[in-house]
Order: sequence, then C-alpha cells, then structure tokens
Amino acid sequence: MIIKNVKVYTEEKLFQEGEIVIGNGRFQESAQITEDKSQEVIDGEGCYAIPGLIDIHFHGCKGYDFCDGTKEAIAEITKYEASVGVTGIAPATMTLPLEELTHILSVAASYKKMAAQEQLPGADLLGINMEGPFISVEKKGAQDERNIICCNLEICQQFLDASEGLVKFIGIAPEKNDNALQVIQGMKHKVNLSLAHTNADYDTAKAAFDAGANHAVHLYNAMPPFTHRMPGVVGAVADSPHVNAELICDGVHIHPSVVRATFRMMGDDRMILISDSMRATGMPDGKYLLGGLEVEVVGNRAALVSNGALAGSATNLMDCMRTAVKKMGIPLETAVACATMNPAKALGEYKDYGSISPGKKADLVLLDSELNLKMVFKDGKRVDL
Ligand SMILES: [Zn+2]
Repeated sequence: MIIKNVKVYTEEKLFQEGEIVIGNGRFQESAQITEDKSQEVIDGEGCYAIPGLIDIHFHGCKGYDFCDGTKEAIAEITKYEASVGVTGIAPATMTLPLEELTHILSVAASYKKMAAQEQLPGADLLGINMEGPFISVEKKGAQDERNIICCNLEICQQFLDASEGLVKFIGIAPEKNDNALQVIQGMKHKVNLSLAHTNADYDTAKAAFDAGANHAVHLYNAMPPFTHRMPGVVGAVADSPHVNAELICDGVHIHPSVVRATFRMMGDDRMILISDSMRATGMPDGKYLLGGLEVEVVGNRAALVSNGALAGSATNLMDCMRTAVKKMGIPLETAVACATMNPAKALGEYKDYGSISPGKKADLVLLDSELNLKMVFKDGKRVDL
C-alpha cells in the first residue's frame, strides 16, 4: 500500500511532504516501491501523517474501565481507542484491594496473548501503569483510601509476575513509605518507578529520583504545588533530566499558561501527554463509577460526587493533543512527539512503535489541516472511524 500526498512526521520531529509505503503491516523504505500495479494507492490529500498515538495513562472509555477486570472491557477499550487514532495503550490501575489488582493484571496478560493469537482489531496493549496502591492519603484525589498500602519488593514483584511483565510503571508516594528508596533501587532495572499521588517535598522527591525513580504521574495533579520556596515534586522533576512527566492536556486539569511554562522548563523530550480518561469518555454526560467511587461527568469535567475532586478526564488522547496545539499554543511538531515518540520510549517500545520509520509497525493517523481525524491505520490496515 502507498499513501501519497501527505506531510510525513519524521523522527527529527518535522513534517516532510512525501509518501508512505506499507507492506506486511510495517512501514517500508520508499525506495523499495515496486512497479506492482495491483498495489493499493491512497491519496492523503495533503493531510498530516503522524504515528498512531500512545496513551500511557487512562482508565477507560465507552462505559468500560480497565479495572473492570474482564477481557471484554479491554477489547472494547482497545476498539474505541483505535477509532480515535490511539493505537497503543498502557491503561492505569486504581487503588484497589491487592487481590483485585492481581486479578486485573492477570486478565490483562491473558487478553494480550489472546489478542496476539486471534489478531484482534483495536489498539495494542503495550503496558499497564499502576497508579496505586502505594500512594498518599493526603493526595489520594479520586482513589479509594481504604485500599492504600505500603510498598515492598515482594508486592511489586507479585504485580510484575501476575501481569507477565505488562506492568511498566509502579507509582509510589515516597514520603509515605519508609522503604521507598529500597524498593526503587531493587525494582528499577525491572520496571519504571513513578512518583504518584504524593505529598513529597522537594528533597524527598529528589532523593527518590536520585535512587532511580524516573517518571512522574500527571504532573501538578495529586502533588504539592510548585512555589518559590517549596518547589516540591515539580521542582525535583525539573532538576532530574532522566525523569519523564505526564501532563493531562484536557483543558481542565492544568492551566494553558502552566502547560507552556512546563514545556519551557523541562524541554519537550520528556513530556508525555496523557488523557487520564475514565469510562464516561465517548459517552453522554451523567454519573459513572471510577475505582468504586461515584463520579459526575459534565462536558470535559469528571469530578467525584462526594467532594468534587477531579476524577480523571472525559476526553481521549487525540482530543488532548488537539487541545495542547489549538488552545495551549504548543507547536504541533512538539505535541505529536509527546503523544507518540516519548510514550513509546518510556514504555521501552520505540523499536516497534512511536515513529514512521521503515521496519516499525504501520500504525498511522492522517489529520487534515484543522487536525480533524481523516484515517487511522493499525498494522497497515484501515480502522473504521
Ligand atoms: Zn491519578
């Protein structure tokens, strides 16, 4: 298949007019175009051609939550995500009882095997992002505090085993766990350790990053504010160049000015756009459950009924990327990298995902000049929108 007349997003984060060649579900070198007349040719009509998006932090959509713990839920989630141009996912777990978490992880592992065997359509399940249960009560946000526990090496290993390696991020509030540094040092070669739902001050956060934690869950949200005498987790991320940070760009969670300032402060190589979407995404306004707690959704805003705390978002990553560009002034070239390349690298999947390069999986999105979704390809096959 050849997709002609597109502006192709390159690994140098630039758009270049050209064409894309796909064969056997992967991108091919343009030079290898055969004279085969039976080859399907698609006119891209001048669209932007970008890699399929990868959301490494969201909970659900279309009425389903990853923590429903069923293969059906994961299958429906992957279908919806692919239909909006998100072709790789690493959904997040909530703070739930240990047994339930272990069950959710093992269901995900068996879904992944089934998806590979049966070549299921929909986004690829590339990982799992564990938001809880090692978090802080003070910064619990929409997580259920009854299920918060202390971290230890054994439980972390249990998560990796139950998920058969699918768990790629484990969140910790270092100020709440006396052995946080030991756990970070003991696990850092097996999984990314993140600071999540934490009230840590600068020194505590910096010590965790120095010990090997390398990721910050939804920067600014569920952590202390960044102020001139108390820089907190945000300051520690700024001073730790190896740390990636998630940003929810739904237009509700972070003021556009702060998003712009954050890009200037951190650079764009380690910013990762996420949706943090919950099950109401792609559904009408109303009341829904998140981690067992009741949430009311009105437009983009999802908040706990009990106390009004923000409870994830009701938008998908494609909408967040558009919001970052159109309402927050982030250049398209930057926003695309933060929704494709950077998450692929954070997951350790850049060899197969995250850019339009020969040999990688042909997961591709075409957007018109207004960033409307025109076509999505997954493994080189057209996805129904
Ligand atoms: Zn959260």
